[in-house]
Amino acid sequence: MSDPDAAGYFDAYGGRWVGETLVPALQRVEAAFRSARADPAFGAELAELNQHYGGRPTPLTLARRLTGHAGGARIWLKREDLVHGGAHKFNNVMGQALLAKRMGAKRIIAETGAGQHGVAAAMAGAVLGLPVEVYMGAKDVARQAPNAQRMRLFGATLHPVEQGSATLKDAVNAALRDWAAHPDDTYYLIGSVVGPHPFPWMVRTFQSVIGAETRAQFPDRAGRPFPDAVVACVGGGSNAIGSFSAFLDDPVALVGVEAAGHGLDSGHHAATAARGSPGILHGARSLLLQDGDGQVVEAHSISAGLDYPGIGPELAALRDRGRLRFASATDREAVAACRTLARAEGILAALESSHAVAEAIRLAPLLGKDADLVVTLSGRGDKDLATLEATP
Ligand SMILES: *Cc1c(COP(=O)(O)O)cnc(C)c1O
Repeated sequence: MSDPDAAGYFDAYGGRWVGETLVPALQRVEAAFRSARADPAFGAELAELNQHYGGRPTPLTLARRLTGHAGGARIWLKREDLVHGGAHKFNNVMGQALLAKRMGAKRIIAETGAGQHGVAAAMAGAVLGLPVEVYMGAKDVARQAPNAQRMRLFGATLHPVEQGSATLKDAVNAALRDWAAHPDDTYYLIGSVVGPHPFPWMVRTFQSVIGAETRAQFPDRAGRPFPDAVVACVGGGSNAIGSFSAFLDDPVALVGVEAAGHGLDSGHHAATAARGSPGILHGARSLLLQDGDGQVVEAHSISAGLDYPGIGPELAALRDRGRLRFASATDREAVAACRTLARAEGILAALESSHAVAEAIRLAPLLGKDADLVVTLSGRGDKDLATLEATP
């Protein structure tokens, strides 16, 4: 599998499940993306930003003491926590903001839940000189005051959304309404491999830099061609598919780790691949958490970035094909893994990424001492200090 079909499907998942008013705007984005990816000048400009502004390539760090602690395969860390902004979100927002500029957009809009994507979008808008307006649930604005402050410092306009439950899904609806009202001069910057075609494909393409770098770095560092497994956490799935896409045709196990929250049977989790079923969410057909009437169920995770009731269509297709295995880690397991990594390596990982670290610690002894395992550290954990402090 590589690119989606002409209608934007990865096997049974994806597509463009939106009202008619948005179709022409999506077609324009798709045409611009197809032209940009074929244009060496666009690739060179993005590579330059990634290197000299973003700090790429990120290191592939051998976690020697964590390896000793887990007692099995060598554990390598792909360090997206060291990208400018502190997470892999950089890779996507720079790609799309550059595309918005190429399309002649006058403004960028985005929606955000906990605020991490809003901050990243505001950062990209600042460096490229494009105004950014961010829709964020009013409840989330109150809960995530430092991110609201960061967005404003980067010059973005924040629109608190009071409708409905005043959280992410209401912010998505507000952003879609804005886009439908201003389709000609506005670029809608989506934060993960979700939403209508071409977003899942485009975001994966921009995030694939993670796996491409890992694949190029690994043989030199480890003295063999491939790791045995690549492990990454899954919210919408952008850091995961970005880590996996370079290895799809290689003899490498791919493991996506979802948030099991209070436990898979607790009703409070975000384990879409484990407990979800096919349906339509945010303009695409994919797996999602829903009740018997097809109503989307609220997700729960201690990490805001994994607290999403769906996964990207490409991940759903790879799961059905058996190319991708899903695992999960609970809130408690993620916090424990975060602390273990911090003590062993002096690295404070985001709680999102700590779900992948938990699975790596579990998997390493099963793979054995001759094996190699790469974990994507999608972001740094400074934002999670208050949560860590409050969690025994
Ligand atoms: C947003 C975020 C995630 C989840 O998003 P994906 O699209 O699943 O990658 C994971 N880790 C960090 C650090 C994040 O900020």
